[in-house]
Amino acid sequence: MIKEIKVFKFGGASIKDADGVRNVAKILQPYASSALVIVVSAMGKITDALEKIVAAHEKQTGDAFLLLEELKRRHYDIMEQLFEPGDPVFDEVNDTFVTIEWVLEDAPHPNYDFLYDQIVPVGELVSSRIVAAYLNKIGLSTQWLDARDIIKTDDNYREGWVRWEETQNAIDKIARPMLEKGGFVLTQGFIGATAENFNTTLGREGSDYTAAIFSFCLNAESMTIWKDVPGVLTGDPRIFENVTKLDRLSYREAIEMTYYGAKVIHPKTIKPLQNKSIPLYVKSFVDPAGEGTYIGPDVDDHYPPMVAVEKGQALLNIATRDFSFVAEHHMGYLFTKIAEFRLQVNLMQNTAISFAICVNDIDDKVQLFAESIKKDFKVTVDSEGLELVTIRHYTPAAVKMLRRGKIVLVEERTKNTLQMVSKEVPLMRRISEQR
Ligand code: ADP
Ligand code: ASP
Ligand code: MG
Repeated sequence: MIKEIKVFKFGGASIKDADGVRNVAKILQPYASSALVIVVSAMGKITDALEKIVAAHEKQTGDAFLLLEELKRRHYDIMEQLFEPGDPVFDEVNDTFVTIEWVLEDAPHPNYDFLYDQIVPVGELVSSRIVAAYLNKIGLSTQWLDARDIIKTDDNYREGWVRWEETQNAIDKIARPMLEKGGFVLTQGFIGATAENFNTTLGREGSDYTAAIFSFCLNAESMTIWKDVPGVLTGDPRIFENVTKLDRLSYREAIEMTYYGAKVIHPKTIKPLQNKSIPLYVKSFVDPAGEGTYIGPDVDDHYPPMVAVEKGQALLNIATRDFSFVAEHHMGYLFTKIAEFRLQVNLMQNTAISFAICVNDIDDKVQLFAESIKKDFKVTVDSEGLELVTIRHYTPAAVKMLRRGKIVLVEERTKNTLQMVSKEVPLMRRISEQR
């Protein structure tokens, strides 16, 4: 019976090319005799490319097969650098891609989310084949595991809800015995399966969550996600200069930051780990010896200001039509509708006769929601270039800096958190203000 199981997750950035795969193998070398589950994402930006294939097929633009050929080429280029011609991995990958061809040969399925899940996670099925084959080739014994045999979900395509009991059973029956045999167990992030064995996905960036599900069900000793940053930083380095690394973070801080858009960890990742007090390490695949960030049951409350920015926001202003108060029954009705349309509410504010909510603007959900309530309420929707900025442990200097060049539409403060829904000041106005 193995006790000390570790779970590692390697994202798209870490395996974006042949050198990336070689680097991952180098990181894994010292763990050759550990009980280790490895979860991988699709390579580089392959998921985006697969989304384009789905869209092309749905709209019948005629170039879906062409896009697929390009995508295959990108994988074959990488494989040609890692394997000798004739290596069985070429056939494995080819057979995996054939499943997309079958879908493209049929008329597009009327349920877009279903169609998406039958095509997009093939990126992970392929990348995991390549990485597993490479590890075996260099002598790191690795068993490939189909995550669809493990991660059981409902049929909420593109945002599958995990059926924990079935998943736990599958891990005990399939994954644990594989670990007991020895060698690494390598599987895919992001993908799951319904009871009828159709593919589902866990939401964009969901591979971190897959690793957390494995960690939870295996009572892992720790989970590590390997990133292109030194650890969790005080803000996204793509947006802000002068960010610093956080050495330690509580589960609570991590969940607050990721929920509001800190893209470094998928927000659903923290709960399963917190529930079993499993530490999460965020480490750099560029500098694997670096300390990274430790996330665990700390109660340290001396944090510097930390910023998360979530783009793609919509601000809805909902007012009663007859100037009556927004009373309990209105609230009850609105919340039922919000749940029905699965809107993620990031901020709310109400006055006597109106109610403002800021939500993630995904697909046409916001528009459909607004339509559905307009009989009873006056609704305005603003979604032009809106972003939600969340500052934990805010200071006057941090707030001043983040307000610069922004029009703030709504702001809300609690003791530790300041949130603002804002948009850029238009360039013309900025120029005239500077004069
Ligand atoms: P993966 O390769 O695992 O998918 P991601 O690209 O999803 O990794 O996540 C890493 C990226 O997250 C970083 O490159 C960085 O730009 C971004 N990021 C956003 N917020 C933060 C933060 N607070 N700390 C570190 N990185 C962040
Ligand atoms: N490949 C998927 C995505 O890009 C899942 C992940 O990488 O976490 O969203
Ligand atoms: Mg990612």
